[in-house]
Amino acid sequence: MSRTVYVNGAYLAEERAAVSVFDRGFLMADGVYEVTSVLGGRLIDFGGHMARLRRSLDALEIEAPVDDDELLAIHRELVARNAIEDGLVYLQVTRGNPGDRDFAYPAPGTTRPTLVLFTQDKPGLADNPAARTGWKVISIPDIRWGRRDIKTVQLLYPSMGKMMAKRAGADDAWMVEDGFVTEGTSNNAYIVRGGRIITRQLSPDILHGITRAAVLRFAREAQMEVEERPFSIEEAQGADEAFVTSASAFVMPVVEIDGVRLGDGAPGPVARRLREIYLEESRRAAL
Ligand code: PMP
Repeated sequence: MSRTVYVNGAYLAEERAAVSVFDRGFLMADGVYEVTSVLGGRLIDFGGHMARLRRSLDALEIEAPVDDDELLAIHRELVARNAIEDGLVYLQVTRGNPGDRDFAYPAPGTTRPTLVLFTQDKPGLADNPAARTGWKVISIPDIRWGRRDIKTVQLLYPSMGKMMAKRAGADDAWMVEDGFVTEGTSNNAYIVRGGRIITRQLSPDILHGITRAAVLRFAREAQMEVEERPFSIEEAQGADEAFVTSASAFVMPVVEIDGVRLGDGAPGPVARRLREIYLEESRRAAL
């Protein structure tokens, strides 16, 4: 069945939706995005995703196309029109179509940013069977650019990383820079040692995950110890547990790193508990 998608103010059947060949998102990956999950027809962590969108737009000097109230209205309209119970809303803003290809940004006020949103139907998103067995990850060098805190659509290397993982029989790749794990291809990475949750501190080296912020808040509220510092693959292989977080995977246990099984090879208690708490608390606060 055809989806209804949103493009620059219009709700259209997906076959009829189009963006210019001169759009800088297409030519130069000059755009940013957000993915918000939907559980029970409601938006998870919507405020956090919109705050990060604003931050990404500001960093690239792209004008915000509409205000937050309107963005919420568009999200809700798409969820309703596409009858999404569980799934995702993808949002992308690009610098738009200046009418030709040029490295320089168009002069301020001359080009309207492009705003596109669409839904992805994922029935049972929160009951992913992978959460019961856990992911296997491999490590790969992190060769991305230095502003990974801006959520841009430059996703070629993370896509290559996902393919390297698949070809190695794994589920994802953890990227490593200067001997330390930065993050997964599309998620933040954690280990657990002696009950303590360890994850890399915020900086331009990683995306500031919205799920990360929520999970660390819930962990601290539950009196769990959190240490924000870098860790190596070797330290992770010797950890009690590992997991990743993202808006679409929530809290996903990791059970194997570069062929080394963690503990007994089953999802650990901290990851399982955090997944439960995150799903429960964020469903409660969903919009
Ligand atoms: N790091 C990277 C590189 C990502 O692509 C993502 C997901 N987009 C995340 C972390 C997790 O962020 P969030 O929890 O906001 O989905």
